[in-house]
Amino acid sequence: MSRETVTVVGAGTMGHGIAQVAAMSGHPTRIYDVSEEVLKRADEAIRRNLDKGVEREKVTAAQRESTLENLRFESYLEPAVTGSDIVIEAAPESLDLKKNLFGEIETYVSASAILATNTSSLPIGRIGEDLNHPERVLGLHFFNPVHIMALLEIVRATATSEDVLSRAKAFGAGLGKECIVVRDVPGFATSRLGLVIGLEAMRMVEQKVASAEDIDKAMTLGYRHPVGPLKLTDMVGLDVRLAIAEHLHTALGSEAFRPPEILRTMVEEGLLGKKAGRGFYDWTV
Ligand code: NAD
Repeated sequence: MSRETVTVVGAGTMGHGIAQVAAMSGHPTRIYDVSEEVLKRADEAIRRNLDKGVEREKVTAAQRESTLENLRFESYLEPAVTGSDIVIEAAPESLDLKKNLFGEIETYVSASAILATNTSSLPIGRIGEDLNHPERVLGLHFFNPVHIMALLEIVRATATSEDVLSRAKAFGAGLGKECIVVRDVPGFATSRLGLVIGLEAMRMVEQKVASAEDIDKAMTLGYRHPVGPLKLTDMVGLDVRLAIAEHLHTALGSEAFRPPEILRTMVEEGLLGKKAGRGFYDWTV
């Protein structure tokens, strides 16, 4: 497998996981964030994941070491992306923020570098539309936790070139992911389907249909989902799910995506899920 230099932009829930799998697959990997504190937490989380992997005999001690050696933490964008072959952006779900970031990144990378976004719902075509080379832009949508989840949803915009698509597929396969290719439509395949269930489960909590635990059990035991929609929402982050719901509600014009009041209230109260210690579940116990 070719050792491409990878840069992950944003070291939060998704960014640190993407950097971990890239580094584990042998790619020299830089990880950048605007926050030093987030970078420190990302380093700790990756070490924790690797230690757990070694304990469970899924990762060898040598793999742990080489993964850590492949990783470089960066608090400035220019050195983070200069010389990179694949940049994967995992910054907050805001079109303006992503467009600005990509505009700046394009000034530092070579013409052949792939610029990928991990957006869950924003139009890939819009993110790349102002660039000099929009054909190098596509979606690489990973799932949480990245080192465990097998799926990589590759989102192809109208402008994305065949060459970039085939390089992205090879890169995804090299990370050990199963790749699906989806057209650049609102919510792609996964967010559109996953969010409908998640939002409906929240409305059911709001209407006191059952407890969060029992609603989750309905899907894990009744439909063999590996995790219930409310626990999954906690893992994704309520703020992230709210941003996606708002976008899909506008883009698809369907009431199924209208954010429930309970979601807005919980986000306002800082009950953001696992990362905040509390969401539909208490994660501190
Ligand atoms: P997060 O809030 O955990 O992390 C985002 C990180 O970006 C933060 O650490 C923040 O400091 C950093 N950041 C803010 N501005 C930045 C900038 N200008 N440059 C670089 N970094 C910046 O969010 P997340 O959950 O990791 O989501 C990131 C992206 O991945 C979003 O587009 C989201 O929709 C998508 N996504 C999330 C999930 C999930 O389960 N959370 C799953 C798939 C895709």
